[in-house]
Amino acid sequence: DAKQHGKNTYRFFCPDAALASLKQLELRDDLHRAIYQKQLRLVYQPQVDARSGRLAGCEALVRWKHPEKGWIPPNVFIPIAEQAGLIVPLGRWVMLEACRQITLWQSMGYEVPRVSVNVSFVQLLREDLHQVLLSCLAANQLGPDRISVEVTESCIMQGVDAIDQLKRIQKSGIRVALDDFGTGYSSLSALKGLPIDELKIDRSFISEIAEGDDARAIVAAIIAMAQRLGVEVVAEGVENEVELNYLRERGADIIQGYFFGRPVPGSEFTGWLADTASHAGEHAVAI
Ligand code: C2E
Ligand code: MG
Ligand code: MG
Ligand code: MG
Repeated sequence: DAKQHGKNTYRFFCPDAALASLKQLELRDDLHRAIYQKQLRLVYQPQVDARSGRLAGCEALVRWKHPEKGWIPPNVFIPIAEQAGLIVPLGRWVMLEACRQITLWQSMGYEVPRVSVNVSFVQLLREDLHQVLLSCLAANQLGPDRISVEVTESCIMQGVDAIDQLKRIQKSGIRVALDDFGTGYSSLSALKGLPIDELKIDRSFISEIAEGDDARAIVAAIIAMAQRLGVEVVAEGVENEVELNYLRERGADIIQGYFFGRPVPGSEFTGWLADTASHAGEHAVAI
C-alpha cells in the first residue's frame, strides 16, 4: 500500500532539482556545524617570485572534512555558504587562521612574507571587511602588508559600496588581488581606477600555453597591459616548465601552481619552508 511504499514512491517522483536542493539544505546545516566544530582546515600553496625564485607568499585555501561524506571541495560548499550567509563567519575564521599561521611560522623562525585569502562578494556587502581584516592582523601583531585579499569580478560588480570597501582595504596597506582574471567580462581598460594591486591570470589560459599561439598571445597581452597599469601579475595553475619559461620570458611577476607546490596543510608547508631556507632567513627555489 501507499504507506508502505511511500518513501520509495516519493524518491521515484522527486525531480532532480528538488532532490538537489534537499541535499543543499542538509549540507547547509552540516556546514553550520562544521564552522563551529572545527571541521575546517586551511591549506597553503606557495607563490614564488618569477625573477628570483624567492617565496613571495602563499595562498590560503579552505578545506572541509565532513564527518560522513569526507572531503567536500570548496567549489561545492562556498556557494552554499554564500547563500546561507555562513560565508561571513567562515570567512572570519579563514582570515584569523591565516594570520595565526603566519605568526606561528614566524615563531619557528620562518619568514613567510604574505598570506592571501579569498573573500566573497557577500563579505564585502554584509560586514565591514576592512575592520575585520585589521582586527585579525592586530590580534597577531602583524602589519597590513602581511595579508592580501583575493576578490573575483563578481565583487567589483556589486556597485560603489563594495568598491569603497576595497578602496579602504587597499588604503590601509592591505593588498587587493583580482582572482581568475580573464574568465569574466571586464576588460583590462575597465581596471583603470579600480583598487587592484595584483591580477591573477586564470589557470585556463596558463594550461593552454603549451598548446598554441592564441593562449600565448592572450597571456602576453594581459601581462603587457598590467605592467602599463602598474599592476603586478600572478600566474595561477602553473604546472610545468614550458608554462613557467614562457611566463618568465613575458615578465610575469609571481608564479603559483603545482610546479612549485600543491596546497598543503600548515605543518607540511613548514617542511617546504625548512627545505627552501637560505642564510638570510628567506626562502627560495632554484629557478
Ligand atoms: P582560486 O582562489 O582560484 O584557487 C585556485 C584553485 O586552483 C585552488 O583550488 C587550487 O588548489 C587550484 N590549483 C592551484 N594550482 C593548481 C595547478 O597547478 N593545477 C590545477 N589543476 N589546480 C591548481 P581549490 O582549493 O579547490 O579552490 C577552488 C576555489 O574555491 C578557489 O579558487 C576559490 O575561489 C574558492 N575558495 C577556496 N578557499 C576559499 C575561502 O577561504 N574563501 C572563499 N570565499 N573562497 C575560497
Ligand atoms: Mg584565489
Ligand atoms: Mg584563482
Ligand atoms: Mg580559479
